[in-house]
Amino acid sequence: MSYFDNNATTPILPRALDALRQASAEDWFNPSSPYRRSSRTKAKLSQSRDYWAQSLGVDSSDLVFTSGATEANNQVIASASQNHPSDSRILLSGIEHPSVGEPARFWFGDRLELIPNDGHGTVCLDAFVGLLDHAPAPALVCVMAANNESGVIQPWAEVARICRERNLPFHCDATQWIGKMPVDDLRLCSSFCASAHKFGGPKGVGCLVGAHAGNLQIGGSQEGGRRAGTENFPAIEAMTVAWRESLAECGASDERAAWRDRMEEDLQSAIPELRVIGQDANRLWNTSLLLMPKFGNLQWVEKMDALGFEISTGSACSSGSEALSPSARAYSLDPMEAKRLVRVSSFYGHGQRDWLELTDAFVCAYQRLTEESSGSNLISI
Ligand code: PMP
Repeated sequence: MSYFDNNATTPILPRALDALRQASAEDWFNPSSPYRRSSRTKAKLSQSRDYWAQSLGVDSSDLVFTSGATEANNQVIASASQNHPSDSRILLSGIEHPSVGEPARFWFGDRLELIPNDGHGTVCLDAFVGLLDHAPAPALVCVMAANNESGVIQPWAEVARICRERNLPFHCDATQWIGKMPVDDLRLCSSFCASAHKFGGPKGVGCLVGAHAGNLQIGGSQEGGRRAGTENFPAIEAMTVAWRESLAECGASDERAAWRDRMEEDLQSAIPELRVIGQDANRLWNTSLLLMPKFGNLQWVEKMDALGFEISTGSACSSGSEALSPSARAYSLDPMEAKRLVRVSSFYGHGQRDWLELTDAFVCAYQRLTEESSGSNLISI
């Protein structure tokens, strides 16, 4: 099987799995316990934190290990609501992941304002600045780094600069960015988060960076009192190994994007009226969101699966739900179009040949679906 659903989750990298096994066998101690062996685990935990902080260019004391990005996003938004007056508002891009959009709605209700997008799926900076000119100042601004469904990159560094100039807190959900793209500018954000299973680490672990991010989980003094709960050191160690590997890989993105672009061009020639969502926007090198001209996305997924390719219907978080996904809304797709969205997302293990084989499989799936549908027409006649 060829796995092309890496924005949903990546397989754990072999070295990360080795690290997970080894740390689970040797460093399973509670870092807060009082004896020597647990002190060793505590020291290793602190080394992991320092490595992360140094590679992200931030202070170690501002980095908290979490259970992933959902927790981190919830933490930032809940604490913004708790630390600001009850009439304060929150500004979000319209394509945020539900782990940002839903807590924002939960905590801020109708004091949530969406920053308009420019028609290509990226937030419109002029409109954003216009929103800031209205009082009161927002309690928090959230713009993700790159969208999980379309791969469209947001002008998050510019948003971070604007927020800095105006002394406004800015949170960036960098879940799909970290592990695939250079991280230098992330330090401009007041807070940002990562999730290990998006870059070859284990599930259920990630980090949140940001001094103001507050604490949501209480009942323990772990993580400098900012996140209660026994640290999962083996998972943190495995995540750190995966992070080191992805830092070494993330240079050759132009070549990788060219393989993806070639697939899109070939498919647009072979399948009339196929649309690529966000094609004119700056996108992650690994993602392609295709609006198929015919056949439901589950039919495509099933056919591609039978041909040996695992792809997705769009964001895994929205599949199975009847609501339109954030990208479908941002591109003003109607519900029938949203049901024809198919996403492919690669990772470092894929080469040009994998993309070419994926292209051939799509063309074959199209032929089979077309034959089957004309066959069923015949029967119905
Ligand atoms: N934000 C984005 C952009 C994501 O793609 C995801 C994962 N689908 C999350 C947040 C949630 O991440 P986690 O699985 O670590 O909770």
